[in-house]
Amino acid sequence: MTKLAPVLSAHWDEKDSFTIQAYKRHGGYTASAKALAMDPDAVIQLVKDSGLRGRGGAGFPTGMKWGFIPQGDNKDHYLVVNADESEPGTCKDTPLLMANPHVLIEGCIIAAHAIRAKHAFIYIRGEVTHVVRRMNQAIEDAYVAGYLGNGVELVLHVGAGAYICGEETALLDSLEGFRGQPRLRPPFPAIAGLYARPTVVNNVESIASVPAIVANGAEWYQSMGTEKSKGTTLYSLSGHVVNPGQFEAPLGITLREILELSGGMRKGHKLKFWTPGGSSTPLFTDEHLDVPLDYEGVAGAGSMLGTKALQIFDETTCVVRAVLRWTEFYKHESCGKCTPCREGTWWLVQILRDLENGKGSEADLAKLLDLCDNIMGRSFCALGDGATSPITSSIKYFRDEYIAHVTNGACPFDPIASTLFEGADA
Ligand code: SF4
Repeated sequence: MTKLAPVLSAHWDEKDSFTIQAYKRHGGYTASAKALAMDPDAVIQLVKDSGLRGRGGAGFPTGMKWGFIPQGDNKDHYLVVNADESEPGTCKDTPLLMANPHVLIEGCIIAAHAIRAKHAFIYIRGEVTHVVRRMNQAIEDAYVAGYLGNGVELVLHVGAGAYICGEETALLDSLEGFRGQPRLRPPFPAIAGLYARPTVVNNVESIASVPAIVANGAEWYQSMGTEKSKGTTLYSLSGHVVNPGQFEAPLGITLREILELSGGMRKGHKLKFWTPGGSSTPLFTDEHLDVPLDYEGVAGAGSMLGTKALQIFDETTCVVRAVLRWTEFYKHESCGKCTPCREGTWWLVQILRDLENGKGSEADLAKLLDLCDNIMGRSFCALGDGATSPITSSIKYFRDEYIAHVTNGACPFDPIASTLFEGADA
């Protein structure tokens, strides 16, 4: 059986793991010293060679992204860390920052050196005040110890709480003090990002993975994972399982293996459906227990690895109700910039709510799919596309359950609870 491989999470069980003393006790801040003695281009090459890919969802090669920053252009460069974690089911960056904030700070020092940036920003959700406090303390400690302030300045920016600000260009607008809405690309952030200067935007886990790569070398990192998806990553297991939580394993582990390692489904119940990468990724069922959870494996099976948020639902869950809940989220978080998403998500909710309450018709399924077809690929950013994924995939795998709502005239799972949806979001 594939073993769990704690690298990022290696010392999370120690009581003081979040302190600078604990971080240094385990070799912390030696990787940044090593990187600062290297030529910036050599650091970029090392990260390229490691095969590290962005952990925020898209899986873009991290070193290649750094390499896009024009060098010798006499402009300020910026590093921005996306800590605006808010996809339903996604909960890896928050525990990482609580347990080991210094690994992100050290990653920022290394990345800033590589792209020749003097300023780095961490953009974090305002709601996670406990994480904000912890990060602020860690940053202060790193300044006092002299790791920050001697070449790179690090600012923690607290956002007001909008899912769209996890989209990198909306994040940059928000960071500049504007309403967070996606920008038209090109130009891409590598050319004109924060304050129209060359900018790298990376996810927390991506940057936090860098110190171990610098310390142990590209070959070490490459030795874990699969052919095109290297290293270890955090899988966030939630829902109807015995032991929900973070499970760090090499890319390519399967859900069956993670369930075996974590204690499995709750007693007496069986897997019905799950998300491989958060609620904006197409659903999987028990047919997909042996799909390798790496970028290629999940894509080959028709979904996306996304943020590796494994939300597990057993047979007691109404799939229509779960999809309605997610769609209400996307409707609420639509930034309103483009019509397909702004209007489309509103209509998706109306139709799904009728279906869930047993007031829909079979024709509504065709209408839902037609709406999804008009949102997917026609929206300004990935939020609109993502909103359609749970709907189209659930109709693909659970059409009979939708029809049962129509023929029963009510939710077959819990007719009383289904009435709670009426007027909830009018
Ligand atoms: Fe805004 Fe949605 Fe359009 Fe993205 S897809 S720009 S979130 S309205």
